[in-house]
Amino acid sequence: MIDAINVRKDFPILSATVHGKPLIYLDNAATTQKPECVIQTIDELYRTSNANIHRGVHFLSEQCTQKYETARETVRKFINAEKTSEIVFTAGTTSSINLVAASFGERFVASGDEIIISEMEHHSNIVSWQLLCERKGARLKVIPFDDNGILLINLLDSLITERTKIIAVTHASNVLGTINPVKEIIAKAHSHNIPVLIDGAQAAPHGNVDVRDLDCDFYAFSGHKIYAPTGIGVLYGKEKLLEQMPPYQGGGDMISTVTFDKTTYAQLPLKFEAGTQNFIDAIALGSAIDYINKTGRQNIVEYEQKLLGYATQKLSEIDGLKIYGKADQKVAIVSFLLNDIHHLDTGMILDKTGIAVRTGTLCTEPLLSHFNIRGLVRASFSFYNTFDEIDILCENLKKISLMFK
Ligand code: PMP
Repeated sequence: MIDAINVRKDFPILSATVHGKPLIYLDNAATTQKPECVIQTIDELYRTSNANIHRGVHFLSEQCTQKYETARETVRKFINAEKTSEIVFTAGTTSSINLVAASFGERFVASGDEIIISEMEHHSNIVSWQLLCERKGARLKVIPFDDNGILLINLLDSLITERTKIIAVTHASNVLGTINPVKEIIAKAHSHNIPVLIDGAQAAPHGNVDVRDLDCDFYAFSGHKIYAPTGIGVLYGKEKLLEQMPPYQGGGDMISTVTFDKTTYAQLPLKFEAGTQNFIDAIALGSAIDYINKTGRQNIVEYEQKLLGYATQKLSEIDGLKIYGKADQKVAIVSFLLNDIHHLDTGMILDKTGIAVRTGTLCTEPLLSHFNIRGLVRASFSFYNTFDEIDILCENLKKISLMFK
């Protein structure tokens, strides 16, 4: 079992105060805080090892290249991919999805084709596909969810046609917390020979991800949501698909030979890594994954599920508080509204008490439209949060409720 009090010592920012109050950081679905080891990795690299990768024969360049490729191997193991050639470093989930929409879309999507997403997607898994649809004259179709926030996957059969070229769904909703039955969706899609992209931005921080067990074709996630720096992320893609897809961007590192007549491209994964990569943060992502592994992924899952259960119970006891997202299988995210108090008011008053929650559309306007609301308050938890912090959140919400009576 995780000892959060001990774990917190690894995260320097968690001892900060905000408006004179101890920081209670409950905005982990937006970005997680960074442990000392990740901060140290970055600091040390810039002090001792910084040199551009893949290009130099000199000592520092070779050392950085080796560390970068070691980080790729760490990521491969983290999601149980078969080969490092299937691990492309990107700037984050958004970049990964855009890469697939642009490159897979260029190769495989034509006018009149269809792409299926779900009603609970983050804007990055909506707009990237809309851009493709606009370019190609393709059509977006949507799997709806019910009022508990559960995807109606029994409707998938009626959405799939011979024109369906790809299905892109989130593994876990950043608002409802719902963990979707992606393995089932993938199996159904594959029975029609349709590849599937999984947006893993909210699943990678909270559980075990096994891309071979899921049998997904693409899996996207962000480093900054798993205790690594911003600006680094991952696209997993099955080799046979990545091989068939054209480069996304042109530039250094992604080529084999260049003449003015014809350019040939580098082997995977470098074909998709044009220009100087964010190698420092990729190496720090490796450190973050090492830290997660050391903490124990199963320990993290169990502890966060306990936090989720406790928060759900305590929040439900508050008069007039309505939780959005009531699936049985959830990651540690609870979104809610308190009576008819504006979400921004709730968030701003909580901020004055040192509590950081997210408010607003949460980059999911179509999801909010389902409930006919304009915004939500979201508390999202990590294994460094404590049960006491949840109590303080609830006490303050009760006070806010009284203030608006
Ligand atoms: N998908 C989901 C489900 C998310 O929660 C987020 C981040 N909020 C994203 C995609 C986009 O991630 P990033 O901004 O790190 O690219």
